Amino acid sequence: MYPKLEINIPKLKENLKAISTLLKKENLSLTMVTKAYCADEYIVSELSKTGLIDYLADSRVENLKNFQKINIPKILLRIPMISEVSDLIDYVDISFNSEYETIKKINEEAKKKDKVHRIVIMVDLGDLREGFFEEKDLFENIEKIKKLENINIIGLATNLTCYGAVLPSEENLSKLVSIAEKLKLEYKLNIQMISGGNSSSLFLINQGKLPKNINNLRIGEAILLGRETAYGSKIDGTYDDAFKLICEIVENKKKVSVPIGEQGMDAFGNKPVFVDKGFMQRAILGIGRQDVAIDSMYPVDELIEIIGASSDHTIVDITNSQKKYVVGDKIEFKLGYSGIMSASTSKYVKKQYLD
Ligand SMILES: *Cc1c(COP(=O)(O)O)cnc(C)c1O
Repeated sequence: MYPKLEINIPKLKENLKAISTLLKKENLSLTMVTKAYCADEYIVSELSKTGLIDYLADSRVENLKNFQKINIPKILLRIPMISEVSDLIDYVDISFNSEYETIKKINEEAKKKDKVHRIVIMVDLGDLREGFFEEKDLFENIEKIKKLENINIIGLATNLTCYGAVLPSEENLSKLVSIAEKLKLEYKLNIQMISGGNSSSLFLINQGKLPKNINNLRIGEAILLGRETAYGSKIDGTYDDAFKLICEIVENKKKVSVPIGEQGMDAFGNKPVFVDKGFMQRAILGIGRQDVAIDSMYPVDELIEIIGASSDHTIVDITNSQKKYVVGDKIEFKLGYSGIMSASTSKYVKKQYLD
């Protein structure tokens, strides 16, 4: 059945091993982030068998619910919604937090269930997504949170290179470390985790610039695509094609390259511009924007070019390919992060695992 997302488990395991080796050298624990592939249970259970993962993390409680059989602590990355606090206590071991009101609700719910819920405090170092921004506000809230009996503050974390594209640096991460020191010494908190970011923090390891008290990183993309995400450099010993999308040709015809007739708007309300390349061999694939982020797929046959897509059709120029394609043939694509994310989410894309 096509379109098909082919997931190569041995390649993912190799990627995980390479990242784990990198982190172990620096005594960093590894949080594996599973949200990009909808926390697919088979992938996660296979990767868990390597014994290289210290924590499993996702942004959604419903994804973490799937991992109940896996004996690795589960972290909720996204600041919890007050409306999901009950499930949070049941299915999540550690949650990232930045709002006192929410933490208070977690405390109440944890008390009802006779549990202690562990939290990590998020600090915003300038990327301007989640986290306490002003130190004064942070420490005032810590005072209040400390009084909540069913809450245990176990760590500090920051997230960078997401909204604001701010790079991690020795300077901004040292600030996280100094806040953690203050929480240990002045606030007598048992801070076990200082989590210094995501796949964009990996380059600091090679440069020897990751502050040494940082003891955890949360890695999603680097395991999937074998690259750090600050500059996009490949990590040794990894693969970039553990995920491949395979699509079927439904039409294959020679046509001109510029549409004929008076031009209005395309399927998405845009006015496209065309370059006249003369006649082309154009193949239509049975996949479209409903299934995958077209801008995040890359033909394995580099002589093929994607020239456009609507909701259910993708048009590729196969004029220069060495292979003579016919209707029914399959064309393979590597995927970027949003390609993996969208294809994993579409109910129209079938998953196949290679073991
Ligand atoms: C998504 C996410 C990560 C993982 O990011 P990658 O770039 O995929 O490594 C880590 N931390 C938080 C808070 C996230 O939301």
